[in-house]
Amino acid sequence: MPTPSSIQLLPELLIDQIAAGEVVERPASALKELLENSLDSGTTRIEVDLIQGGIKRIRVSDNGKGIVRAELPLAIARHATSKIASLEDLEAVSTLGFRGEALASLAAISRLSITTRARGDSQGSRLDMVGGSAPVIEPAAIDVGTVVVAEDLFFNTPARRKFLKSDATEFSHCEAVFERVAIAAPEVAFTLSHQEKPLRRFAASSAQARVAAILGEEFSAASVGIHAVGQPFAISGQIALPRYTRAGRDQQFVFVNGRFVRDKLLMHAVREAYADVLHGHRQPAYAIFLTLDPTLVDVNVHPAKSEVRFRDARAVHQFVFHALNKALAQPSGATSAPVANVARWASPSSETHATNPPESIQAFTQNQYAQRSAGAQGAFSALAANELSSRYQVLRPAELSTSAAVGDRPVDTARADLPPLGFAVAQLHGIYVLAQNQQGLVVVDMHAAHERIVFETLKTQLDAAPLASQPLLTPVSVSLGARDMTLAESHGDFLRELGFDVAPLSRSELAIRSVPALLPSIDAAGLLRELLDDLAQHGASRVIEERRNELLSTMACHGAVRANRMLTLPEMNALLRKMEETERSGQCNHGRPTWYQFSVSDLDKLFMRGR
Ligand code: ADP
Ligand code: MG
Repeated sequence: MPTPSSIQLLPELLIDQIAAGEVVERPASALKELLENSLDSGTTRIEVDLIQGGIKRIRVSDNGKGIVRAELPLAIARHATSKIASLEDLEAVSTLGFRGEALASLAAISRLSITTRARGDSQGSRLDMVGGSAPVIEPAAIDVGTVVVAEDLFFNTPARRKFLKSDATEFSHCEAVFERVAIAAPEVAFTLSHQEKPLRRFAASSAQARVAAILGEEFSAASVGIHAVGQPFAISGQIALPRYTRAGRDQQFVFVNGRFVRDKLLMHAVREAYADVLHGHRQPAYAIFLTLDPTLVDVNVHPAKSEVRFRDARAVHQFVFHALNKALAQPSGATSAPVANVARWASPSSETHATNPPESIQAFTQNQYAQRSAGAQGAFSALAANELSSRYQVLRPAELSTSAAVGDRPVDTARADLPPLGFAVAQLHGIYVLAQNQQGLVVVDMHAAHERIVFETLKTQLDAAPLASQPLLTPVSVSLGARDMTLAESHGDFLRELGFDVAPLSRSELAIRSVPALLPSIDAAGLLRELLDDLAQHGASRVIEERRNELLSTMACHGAVRANRMLTLPEMNALLRKMEETERSGQCNHGRPTWYQFSVSDLDKLFMRGR
């Protein structure tokens, strides 16, 4: 026996067992490797059968191109791969595998069998290995394709085996891997069984249908498709609108060239795109597929290949951010409406599922309304709405009630060109605007909606130039503490950019001489105090620039119409029109919804009509 301090070559098996630790951490990582091998083989059908969460048994069967008998011993040799042969190949790799170590690793730490028949071979073969023993190869009966079975994971490395969790936990990890692979390969049919019970079955389908099958109907009903092509990147997928969020990150799928990745850069780009439309700590849900020239991304960063490195990280970030931001920014009229869940109230036991978005809104918007409303921009902040509302026939409550009583169905077909959010019919408790549109009833939280409109307007204007300011007839004086006096002085330029003109009157008093023109009737002193508070919290001016939107959001909140303010019908209609053309107007600045759609059939359900 050599003493422990002498340098010696490790035995082959020990090398393989050490290496196996990097690739195969638990049943789910073994499953991932086997599924990727099957996909690389060009299969159209993959079956997965697990016993005891995969600890006892993982079986993956495919109908891909198979392995020719003579190469079978190579398949389980370390660093043996059919997928790349040179550095150039590595740099342009487009297969999921390429390191040639998965089967070698699995062979070292399990009882492994590979039964396979290559296209063109008249007979199949079966290879057996037990914990890295010499492989035994025999003829076997099998159709073209490959079946890999790994049993008793880590049976010969007890220390690693101890790290495995319960069967149920290991199974849930396997299921997550199964979903990730299945979502990226919709053209392949998949089945999954556990303890011989079939649990999941996905037929070959479109990308969108596969996403729906895995993320669920509720996700699909609340999501929009994204498609963007910009040299040298392309992105596609489905992203949930902010009204559908999750407590955790369980529905966040990002794929780069078909490979599921957890990439900080990409996750950051996505979070940024959702930044001001998400409520509190809720998580967005999405399945995003980024494709790019394989030479522009390094996938050989980690043995499990779940991290990638982009050659031009900045460009990727911008591309992804813009694609998502654009999809999320569609004005209310152009995206599906937040749909009220009437079923929940109508029958408490029924499942809570969002109904399908009203397609007609989209069709209408894209076709006619978009052109008609173009040019209908105008300062809304004062709610001086007459010129806007005169573009449409404004219905008075009296007219509505007669036209609504056509037969039994309160839908007037003559009004097929109602704007998406319809016309206001009333204001409720000084908080909600009620409107009738083609689908039925629209309920708008007027403060929340107006706040978003003001916020978006402020953002757009400040992007272009300092905010226009409007001098006050009589300056407003504010008394401030020493901290705020100093802040107001040192941030004078920044305040001017926001439309404020202030000047010290004494050591503890400031005069506000001008206010942002967009917010003429605000409580100037109150807003200035809040802004100074924000500035005090954020400190350095670099941070201020980053927090700019938060400051604008404070301003929007002040500038937005307050609850209990009575609005006239033209004012309400102007608000609806403005919402239709404002980006992200489906959510207020804090991510809460600004309006809900109740369809006539939702209302029918409530009143149990037609049952
Ligand atoms: P890698 O996938 O990195 O090449 P693996 O150890 O996973 O390395 O597999 C080694 C080789 O075995 C592959 O390159 C491939 O040629 C072959 N192979 C593995 N699984 C399959 C399969 N299901 N169908 C066809 N060939 C396979
Ligand atoms: Mg592989």
